[in-house]
Amino acid sequence: MEYSYSKLGNKYDLKLIEKLDNEYHTKLKKMYRNLKCEDCSSNNANWVTLKRGKFVCINCAQKLREDASNKIKSCMGTYRWHPDEMEIMINNN
Ligand SMILES: [Zn+2]
Repeated sequence: MEYSYSKLGNKYDLKLIEKLDNEYHTKLKKMYRNLKCEDCSSNNANWVTLKRGKFVCINCAQKLREDASNKIKSCMGTYRWHPDEMEIMINNN
């Protein structure tokens, strides 16, 4: 079996993650569509900091990325999302 690891270090069946991909990205888009960047209030907050469970813009994401503990992640198409990461975003938004 092949695995996919979340930014939180949890291990999932890659096939399950691939199956959930569309659903997760659709959910994320709905969540950030009406939100502004948590840090600078600009639009297009389509990155997240999993440490806070908040959406941020790409500029703020780049700054936050200097500290790995912020666990920066993009909501864009090529990034795989995992159940534990989704849970954080849903609980905080
Ligand atoms: Zn920002």
